[in-house]
Amino acid sequence: MSKRDYYEVLGVSRDADKKAIKKAYRSLANKYHPDKNPDNEEALEKFKEIAEAYEVLSTEEKREAYDRFGHEGVNGQAGAGGFGGAGAGGFSDIFGDVFGDIFGGAGGGGGQQSRTRRGSDLRYTLELDLEQAVWGCEEKIRIPTLVDCEVCEGSGAKPGTKPTTCPTCNGAGQVRMSQGFFSVQQTCPQCHGQGQIISDPCNSCHGQGRKQEYKTLNVKIPAGVDTGDRIRLSGEGEAGTFGGPAGDLFVQVSVKPHSIFERDGSNLYCEVPISFTTAALGGEIDVPTLDGRVRLKVTSECQTGKLFRLRNKGVKPVRGGPVGDLICKVVVETPVNLTDRQKELLKEFAETMGEESEHSPKQKTWFDGVKKFFDEIKK
Ligand SMILES: [Zn+2]
Ligand SMILES: [Zn+2]
Repeated sequence: MSKRDYYEVLGVSRDADKKAIKKAYRSLANKYHPDKNPDNEEALEKFKEIAEAYEVLSTEEKREAYDRFGHEGVNGQAGAGGFGGAGAGGFSDIFGDVFGDIFGGAGGGGGQQSRTRRGSDLRYTLELDLEQAVWGCEEKIRIPTLVDCEVCEGSGAKPGTKPTTCPTCNGAGQVRMSQGFFSVQQTCPQCHGQGQIISDPCNSCHGQGRKQEYKTLNVKIPAGVDTGDRIRLSGEGEAGTFGGPAGDLFVQVSVKPHSIFERDGSNLYCEVPISFTTAALGGEIDVPTLDGRVRLKVTSECQTGKLFRLRNKGVKPVRGGPVGDLICKVVVETPVNLTDRQKELLKEFAETMGEESEHSPKQKTWFDGVKKFFDEIKK
């Protein structure tokens, strides 16, 4: 299937700013949202297209990649998330932040359906080791959640009884109050907008229709996630009230610091200590990578701070793109706990170095710099 240009999909110009993109997205998403177009395949397709375009154009790096390489540049994530599934970050994120405030939540305004209410979204922070984040894993998490009360089946009324229509608002959930010249519509104070009251509440849930419970979920963590990525588990959030849909659960990834590696995007960094003899003469050292040891050739006359790049030994990013590199920084270590014999050898060695050292180019330029600095002060 050939894809339409994302800018065209949202009907914005190529230099549109974030605000304009969000605005265009909101109004289109509002129009084609599945809730407003039930059983309309065409609207659903359109909605997905809009969501995909927004997800790319609203993320700086993705938009950049798209601008430079077109659909190819952002292909990686198209397959990863899938629509509405518990995929890898991807689309899911935008539902949290944009849809949360358009469609979800307290449902101000619409009086008729006020009794059903969507459950809240929940967030769970999942701590992972670097290895788990890089390779992917499956984790069990235990989360508190409100579920429908099984005694009253979520109605909140004692079994055998039913909620009754609120006498104050006659079921509308809203009342009109006069304040001077104005007539203001307000949420009904007796039923709090529900339109119904429960005169005989269920004992088990005290009329709430919901109870707090713990549930254990299996979360599949895709390979390559990093701190800040979110995985959306659709419908695993808080139960809705009075038959409303459940909210979503967002699993927020937080990667623990590693003892050896530091991660920056798809690259990994580590420091490798080497002896000063290896540094001077060259040799081979063992370097750790996430999938085992690798022999690394150190060239002779190697200085502290020299970087060695091991291609493709980094991380494969979750949203696609090339595998990163492992960058090793060499640190020359001064030997300690020397025996008398070793000290003697080093003294002997030092004597061969002479005073003016062609063997320490850095030292020489440094001392030259210091001398020049003092000469200039004296003037
Ligand atoms: Zn109950
Ligand atoms: Zn009422």
